[in-house]
Amino acid sequence: MRLILVINCGSSSAKYQLFDVGKHISLAKGLIERIGQADSCRDYYEAIEIIVARLTDKKKGAISSRDEIRGIGHRVVHGGEEFKSSVLINEKVLKSILKYCELAPLHNPPSLSGIKACSKILKGIKQVAVFDTSFHQTMPEKAFLYGIPFRYYEKHGIRKYGFHGTSHRFVAEKAAGRLGRPLKSLRLITCHLGNGCSMTAVNRGRSVDTSMGLTPLEGLLMGTRSGDLDPAIVFYLIEKEKLSAESISDILNKESGLLGVSGVSNDMRDLVKSTKSKTKSAKRSRLAIDMFVYRIKKYIGAYFAAMGGLDAVVFTAGIGENHPWLVRRIAVDLRNVVPEKVKFLVIPTNEELLIARDTYEIIKKRSA
Ligand code: ADP
Repeated sequence: MRLILVINCGSSSAKYQLFDVGKHISLAKGLIERIGQADSCRDYYEAIEIIVARLTDKKKGAISSRDEIRGIGHRVVHGGEEFKSSVLINEKVLKSILKYCELAPLHNPPSLSGIKACSKILKGIKQVAVFDTSFHQTMPEKAFLYGIPFRYYEKHGIRKYGFHGTSHRFVAEKAAGRLGRPLKSLRLITCHLGNGCSMTAVNRGRSVDTSMGLTPLEGLLMGTRSGDLDPAIVFYLIEKEKLSAESISDILNKESGLLGVSGVSNDMRDLVKSTKSKTKSAKRSRLAIDMFVYRIKKYIGAYFAAMGGLDAVVFTAGIGENHPWLVRRIAVDLRNVVPEKVKFLVIPTNEELLIARDTYEIIKKRSA
């Protein structure tokens, strides 16, 4: 059996899934939450110990021994400009992931802890890093640079990196299958609409532009994130509200988006329910949804123009997969804008499966 364990260490949780890559099936999956809190485990080391114990549990475990695991694939959020594809983890790769903690302070450190824990607890099993940023490394300079002095790109690496790359890549490949055409012949716009939302222009299989930027704050309106705004708003708020830079960062990341506009919730299900209610909040929930949809349409227009053509728009993740009214509404609104042949598709994402496949391919090559 070709068993690959996928580990996704987030800012306070560790998700895992065990795949049989040969049969394309998931054998076990789970989540350890609230890592570091009194009611959960102490740290990521302990979390990985729990995961291995669950997987090899005599009664309920999916495998009888850890030796059945051929490789471990880790989701790593930031790979900077260095990693253009998934890589086998060694000392040098670990150092680079550490370096990019500066650019992703909430995300890269837990991944590092997860990798280090696996190298002790699952000693000898090869590990692969799959980066959220690597799919977007094909963007041209004109798309990834900001209009600020060039020295800040050279000195601090300030540029658009983009995120959700594994998801955009996965659904782009699936869309090609669904359309019965090679990915290399297609111009696609992929929309990952979850709590975090991003869109990507995928021109013949390559990401040529994406809506998230240096951080996952840029672009679409999201659950609690503002997405695009005039940077001068930050200075205006500092002055008018006497706020610190840190509080503004919190406002833009945690109190804005669907939640901030509606005053109701960051969850699309709650907002839809609220629009149907007879409460005062109904109007602002409707406004939040209108802004959400409007911005997606603007990005479709922009990426259609950037690629000089379009074959399909693909919707995925929590909102993209479960709110068909949204896809219908966008398709109807754009019917006189995009060519008639453009398809609007809903394709469930599966980032973990892609991580497992990448891991298996890299390990197979190395063992050949
Ligand atoms: P995350 O980005 O944290 O992985 P999701 O992809 O699940 O989260 O996206 C969360 C959003 O998707 C929420 O706005 C929620 O309303 C919506 N969503 C998720 N699952 C469903 C569902 N089964 N039905 C309707 N909406 C859903």
